[in-house]
Amino acid sequence: MNDYKSSSDFKSSSEFDYDLFVIGAGSGGVRASRIAAGHGANVAVAEEYRVGGTCVIRGCVPKKLLVYGAHFAEDLNDASMFGWDVPVKRFDWSVLRDNVSAEVDRLEGLYGQTLDNNKVTLIAERAVIEGPNMVRLASGKSVTAGKILIATGAQPYMPPIDGIEHAISSNEVFGLEKMPGRIVIVGGGYIANEFAGVFHQFGSHVTIVNRSDTILRGYDEQMRDRLLQISLAKGIDFRFNSTFDRIEKREDGSLHMVMTGCDDIEADQVLFAVGREPNVGGLGLEAVGVNLGKRGEIMVDATNRTNVASIFAVGDVTDRIQLTPVAIREGQAFADREFGAGAPPIDYANIPNAVFSHPPIAGVGLTESGAKEKYGTIKTFTSDFRAMKNVLAGRNERSLYKLVVDAATDVVVGIHMIGPDAPEILQAAAIAVKAGLKKEDFDATVALHPTMSEELVLMR
Ligand code: NDP
Repeated sequence: MNDYKSSSDFKSSSEFDYDLFVIGAGSGGVRASRIAAGHGANVAVAEEYRVGGTCVIRGCVPKKLLVYGAHFAEDLNDASMFGWDVPVKRFDWSVLRDNVSAEVDRLEGLYGQTLDNNKVTLIAERAVIEGPNMVRLASGKSVTAGKILIATGAQPYMPPIDGIEHAISSNEVFGLEKMPGRIVIVGGGYIANEFAGVFHQFGSHVTIVNRSDTILRGYDEQMRDRLLQISLAKGIDFRFNSTFDRIEKREDGSLHMVMTGCDDIEADQVLFAVGREPNVGGLGLEAVGVNLGKRGEIMVDATNRTNVASIFAVGDVTDRIQLTPVAIREGQAFADREFGAGAPPIDYANIPNAVFSHPPIAGVGLTESGAKEKYGTIKTFTSDFRAMKNVLAGRNERSLYKLVVDAATDVVVGIHMIGPDAPEILQAAAIAVKAGLKKEDFDATVALHPTMSEELVLMR
């Protein structure tokens, strides 16, 4: 099954300029580079934009900081019930934006330092594949490598709609000059729901437009429904089964959106979050014969190898599970397998996931409907409660936790949660699902009181 190697001391070869050439210094590329170099390989990584990739530069990290910033809107409102007199509540977007940007700069520096400390050569240029063992740099220089790893990630998909140039993607959110008074967010996935919460808390009027009537496809139905109800109650508008005919920019800078499925919409900003597509354009893949899938994704086997034996790919560019920790696992396993003592195949089952919406959703394992399909007879246990803090604050927002259990074995095959800090709680609970623990193990665990997470062991 696996292809473990016996030796962990890789002998660098002088046949090529580098043993490994990595294209893209994001989560997967940086991990693969430094681990391979640690095994003794001579490694170079080319990056045309900024070291750190989507997650650090314009994804998970700055997004999470905005989510924290947005939460203050509720916390400051709730503060009075806890005795705090906070007379002035004014939000200055430019302060948060610039502080987040400075933090991203700091992290980018750390990533560069990590490469440097591990003796990885960073080449701040675009690289294109010229042959199975050759890449050409933007400066015109060609270099050779024993192995090439493509870790170029993905980019927001912007559909070909008239006037799409007036729209922004998640990339541009972090540099906005000012908060829009009215924003339309297109899509019903992770990014749409996360930014809907952020913009709403910062005072924008948010309208989510989705082509279907389902948000967060793939998530447990009850969690999706709860988020929708809470979002509606907060004042976020939804337009379902609606698509764009065109986007027109008015002289005053506002946007007029001509729609099918709902009335036309006026707004100050429109953000498209309708999925991300693999970054493969102009990489030279066709010329060298690397097989691509329908969405342009690089096809790889269980060891991340493409059909060209010396070329590998990890992370979002393979369009399997577009999550940073998955790219990191793949980068690590690739480096250990090709340059170290080997690595077992990556287990893609029970990967926890979260949507940093307001409130956040988190889940691991099978949804209720997924479990029914797989096991036939299942049991579900739910706890529908108002967090203690919300009760005192007078915030009428209910949390929902659910355990999905295979009735035949008592094994907990899924956990789904919506409520304050759900991702923080779920990460620990995911260990139990990964370990195949039973409902009786949850029942045998004494509650930690008073917490929200105690609900996990109190469902009967
Ligand atoms: P998602 O895949 O989450 O959602 C895409 C949404 O856009 C769906 O609602 C889908 O509708 C809709 N859609 C898809 N194609 C079109 C189209 N051609 N026209 C109109 N609507 C369309 O994508 P995101 O952009 O939100 O996020 C991309 C990926 O980034 C995620 O899949 C996730 O892996 C990752 N990510 C993860 C985060 C996290 O872990 N917290 C945060 C942000 C991103 P329908 O379902 O009806 O087909």
